[in-house]
Amino acid sequence: MINQEGWLEQSNKIPSPNFDDRPKNTEIKLIVIHNISLPPENFNPANIEKLFLNKLDFDSHEYFKEIQDLKVSSHFLIDREGQITQFVSVYKRAWHAGKSNFKNEDNCNDFSLGIEMIGSDNSIFENKQYASLKKLIKSLKKVFPKILEDNIVGHSDIAPGRKTDPGPFFDWTKIR
Ligand SMILES: [Zn+2]
Repeated sequence: MINQEGWLEQSNKIPSPNFDDRPKNTEIKLIVIHNISLPPENFNPANIEKLFLNKLDFDSHEYFKEIQDLKVSSHFLIDREGQITQFVSVYKRAWHAGKSNFKNEDNCNDFSLGIEMIGSDNSIFENKQYASLKKLIKSLKKVFPKILEDNIVGHSDIAPGRKTDPGPFFDWTKIR
């Protein structure tokens, strides 16, 4: 269940400052699925949470220098146990897609919801993650009927050549 303020009731809530208003009268019609691990291949959510809160210590790992000063967020994060954390209200614009295009419309952040699956392009996802994702999508579709089956895509679908996530190990049959 998504409450009136746009927060999923059965989730951890860690409000991120990285969001703003969607353009006026925007219809939310797209779900973008990502994978994330920080540093790469580390599936602990702690650094991801810090990144979305602008609290990541960029000196604590060599890789973090590459993403220094990056201001990003996602509406949802699903950890390896299937636990869902929400960072941004679904009614607000999270900063997850970057330069992107869906069916000839640019700036997918305007009209989409971002869901990060903790994982990488090199490994399978956990069944618990798929189970939570499926439930989450169901809740979101109830609130946003414009999210049709074809409007659930990977980051790589809306930013081809630039992004590869959720990667070859993401099994689309598990959520369809
Ligand atoms: Zn992504």
